[in-house]
Amino acid sequence: MTATTFLDEHAQHSEPGHPERPARLEAVRAAIAADPLLAGLPRLDAPPARRSALERVHFPEYLDLVEAFCEQGGGDLDVDTYATPASFDVARQSVGNLLALVDAVMTGEAGNAFAIARPPGHHARPAQAMGFCLLANAAIAARHAQMAHGADRVLVVDLDVHHGNGTQECFYDDPSVLVVSAHQDAIYPGTGRLGETGAEAGEGFTVNLPIPAGAGDEVAGLYRGVLPPLVARFRPDLVVLSFGADPHRLDPLAGLNLSVAGLAEAAGVVHEVADAEAGGRLVVTLEGGYLPDVLAASVAAVLRRLADPTAVIDDPFGPTSRPPVDLAPLAAAVRQLHRLGA
Ligand SMILES: [Zn+2]
Repeated sequence: MTATTFLDEHAQHSEPGHPERPARLEAVRAAIAADPLLAGLPRLDAPPARRSALERVHFPEYLDLVEAFCEQGGGDLDVDTYATPASFDVARQSVGNLLALVDAVMTGEAGNAFAIARPPGHHARPAQAMGFCLLANAAIAARHAQMAHGADRVLVVDLDVHHGNGTQECFYDDPSVLVVSAHQDAIYPGTGRLGETGAEAGEGFTVNLPIPAGAGDEVAGLYRGVLPPLVARFRPDLVVLSFGADPHRLDPLAGLNLSVAGLAEAAGVVHEVADAEAGGRLVVTLEGGYLPDVLAASVAAVLRRLADPTAVIDDPFGPTSRPPVDLAPLAAAVRQLHRLGA
């Protein structure tokens, strides 16, 4: 059974003209309502996340700063990250929803789950808001699985066109959380190079897949070559997927050139490795994707895939017409660097 949450309060976090806007989630809401399979999925309610859950990842001083910044009226936390008077509460509720799904999946109440919320989280650093992100949702979820449910190892897969630098930073020296990020090479935020593989005890537990622009739906094939051996070696108790729709070919912020079907296929590979190595325990958290209709179609496709792996994926935007880029050299480099065999 696939469980969901929807962040009803999300529209209180809004800045006119900003690409990370309420229309994104409202389009997702409409797409779910229009699909009988998705509309019938159970939706869980949850309290806001406790401060202690946030402090597993963020410095108390940072949380105090954001909370006070919002109480004083909000504004710009950095060049592209805004906050309104309600944003801290919205972000806390968003994390609360996500942690309720972690609870449901770790206790077996749900098989897998998708938290439909904004703002995104994977650029948020332990002590800094960044890249439209206030709280490090995926990282907080991973730590919650460990601290509240005794998970020994958590895999975080980041499928957003941008490198999940915040998530990576949270676990860079930690061998108990394997972070695998696939993203377009050499765009914002500039990190996520192949050679960033972790530090100290965490060496080898950060895996970056910096993908050349225009790669298209070959990304799912790259996942098929890399994820199964990595995950079989790591044997996670939970898989967290940071899912963004901005790898889509129409997205205005980047150029990875995937289709909706290709995005769903890549997420499907993550679903398969969760089934094979983590008892099916998979929780998806929403990251980027800045064309609301593309985001909605992509989330609907992934949800359908989670709820029923045999479900037909509807791709209203169709395939890309450009030839894909050969990702075999990148796959070979990753396999060699991380000793995954030939
Ligand atoms: Zn992104």
